[in-house]
Amino acid sequence: MVDKLRKIAESLLSEGKVDVILAYGDGSFPFRSIPIFVEKATDVKRMVFNPFCHHNLAKYIPQERDKKIGIIALGCTSRSIAILLQERQVERDRLYIIGVSCPGMVDVRKLGKRVNLRRVKEIKEEGEEIVIEPGNIRVARKEVLFKSCELCPYPTPVLHDELLGEEREGFMGFPDVEEMEKLSSEERRNYFEERFALCIRCFACRLTCPSCYCRECFAESSMPQFVSHQVTMEDNKLFHLNRSMHLAGRCVSCGECERACPLEVPMFQLHRKMEKSAYELFQYIAGLDPSQPPLLTTYTLQDPDLEGG
Ligand code: SF4
Ligand code: SF4
Ligand code: SF4
Repeated sequence: MVDKLRKIAESLLSEGKVDVILAYGDGSFPFRSIPIFVEKATDVKRMVFNPFCHHNLAKYIPQERDKKIGIIALGCTSRSIAILLQERQVERDRLYIIGVSCPGMVDVRKLGKRVNLRRVKEIKEEGEEIVIEPGNIRVARKEVLFKSCELCPYPTPVLHDELLGEEREGFMGFPDVEEMEKLSSEERRNYFEERFALCIRCFACRLTCPSCYCRECFAESSMPQFVSHQVTMEDNKLFHLNRSMHLAGRCVSCGECERACPLEVPMFQLHRKMEKSAYELFQYIAGLDPSQPPLLTTYTLQDPDLEGG
């Protein structure tokens, strides 16, 4: 896979079809990868593709939109790109989308419960297994996937200029949200308040989210000031509930927000709940069709909720 990606990137850059490729590079440990920006054909050797390439690279499109951009797109990345196109944050002809049918990415926190990460020197993929050295320790990939990847409905990119890998079936359903919905409203409030209480409002979840690209976020606006600088339960609630509303019909369940959180605050479920509501109320799935109007900017005088509508 990585050889094919490098070859495509090299020809796109050397033929001047793109100015930059948004890709994955090696991180500081064998179980880390990082987003990289490749601007020269001679630098494509820095590109990698492994079970730790979970970053949703669509996050970097708005900042690079004056360039012609090549991007490695997993299923979730492609849906985020579709949202950016729907919201006119980039023109389609400035993008070259190298789709990769995604086998699901490995959650290092889960892997760390199976092996001592401090001793790991090398990690390879062999079929459906992850092989860890030293010790030739074999772990089934599906046992250590991120929750977002276990529940992924579209592992095959929905939008691409070329596609690498076999098309894969996704999983359509919300068992995680349904479990939470069984709680009474009191229990549900406590459930989320326990999570809000952990948050230090560092904004890493927002900064890593491809759908959060506003230059000024309501959470930092001073006029009017919606959220104070104090880290209180009320302010945390305001931030997370408002952010979640802003993501209704715009979240693709990539899980980046939860992965970025230094305190491992499990907020993913809140966004999944919004996703389920958008699906049930409006039969709307975010990021499938760039030509479709965004869910919450669509208005009709025939709206059944309007008086006389
Ligand atoms: S959410 Fe889906 S497309 Fe995204 S990394 Fe996981 S399996 Fe791949
Ligand atoms: S990343 Fe975690 S701690 Fe930081 S604002 Fe988001 S939920 Fe709160
Ligand atoms: S809210 Fe989280 S899961 Fe949804 S698109 Fe943003 S980073 Fe991905």
